[in-house]
Amino acid sequence: MQGNSSFRLPTAQGYYGDFGGAYIPEMLYPNVEELQLRYLEILDEPGFQRAFRDLLRDYVGRPTPLYFAKRLSQRFQTNIYLKREDLCHTGAHKINNTIGQILLAQRLGKQRIIAETGAGQHGVATATVCALMGLSCIVYMGEKDIERQAPNVARMRMLGAKVIPATSGSKTLKDATNEAIRDWINNPTDTHYIIGSVVGPHPYPDMVARLQSVISEETRWQLKEKTGSELPTHVVACVGGGSNAAGAFYHFLDEPGVELVAVEAAGLGINSGMTAATTALGRPGILHGSKSLLMQTDDGQVVEPHSISAGLDYPGIGPLHANLFKSGRGKFLSATDEEAIRSAFEVAKLEGIIPALETAHAFAAIDQLSLTESDQVVICLSGRGDKDLATYMKQMDMTGS
Ligand SMILES: *Cc1c(COP(=O)(O)O)cnc(C)c1O
Repeated sequence: MQGNSSFRLPTAQGYYGDFGGAYIPEMLYPNVEELQLRYLEILDEPGFQRAFRDLLRDYVGRPTPLYFAKRLSQRFQTNIYLKREDLCHTGAHKINNTIGQILLAQRLGKQRIIAETGAGQHGVATATVCALMGLSCIVYMGEKDIERQAPNVARMRMLGAKVIPATSGSKTLKDATNEAIRDWINNPTDTHYIIGSVVGPHPYPDMVARLQSVISEETRWQLKEKTGSELPTHVVACVGGGSNAAGAFYHFLDEPGVELVAVEAAGLGINSGMTAATTALGRPGILHGSKSLLMQTDDGQVVEPHSISAGLDYPGIGPLHANLFKSGRGKFLSATDEEAIRSAFEVAKLEGIIPALETAHAFAAIDQLSLTESDQVVICLSGRGDKDLATYMKQMDMTGS
């Protein structure tokens, strides 16, 4: 059921087709309702838009280039353009969202910011904008992730954030999320919770998609400058929760001639039990406040995901994407850990760009598309690979390459 004629906009209750909504404990109603009532009005304010655009230009470094990747294009006998989100301040697209949400928090009169983080990328993007605005920042992070992601923990602390370990359960992202929700319940008036992807209760998926939509807004005019047409044949992006993909797809969602390709992490393989390929395996369920597709056991227990890339290691997918999958508007592919690594090395050698491991999954899917010499393919290069160097080094030690 498509409750709305647009793939872009949810209904007033936050539904994309069958997915979305706000499934939250009663104690969170006041916080979430305040956001539901105010977010559109604030995002549309000329003063908000001016501040958002100014910071994106002068602080983040937008517009990010749309780069014609000549050697990669030759290799695949097609035309490949890279949307360079890796050149954003802090090294990935995540800052587009945190800049927008910090401006929103200010307009809501909030002085305290909380966030949850897995690998630490969203925590760093949040700590960055809190330093920029002089707001206090608390980041919840699983105890196990704190050990595994020491450089990002150091970055957050240097930026002035307080990193609080989540010590329950598996001591990872899901437990950090529970801690952040508990904090928000206890601090309903002065605190804003910055969620890092197009997930969570309404209005987060729509709000984050709007903030990230600057990616496809720029892509349209940049492609027109280069090719004479605003419309590519394909847009390809990796999907964890789905925020870089939502931003890269946004202004093409209602253009049926543009094929939208979302690439999930297959981990060791879709049927290996060690995977994060949500649409391939997922069934409808409720996770982190919204109805979507998620990997679960027969009795509804969330299955621990696996991916070599921390940013794709998530058992669900945002409701916008669940609707693209179910309706057939989006094409959903997956790439294994090994395929992603191979693509990262190939892109590094062909283009002189070391992509994030997450982004490498998008590159690994090129092979699975039957591309021709007349196709114009835009790939969202969501982030740079500096943070993944330890993983890449291990690979070079193993293969001697
Ligand atoms: C966090 C991250 C992702 C995954 O998050 P989405 O919300 O799916 O975009 C992808 N790429 C990079 C570089 C990231 O840091």
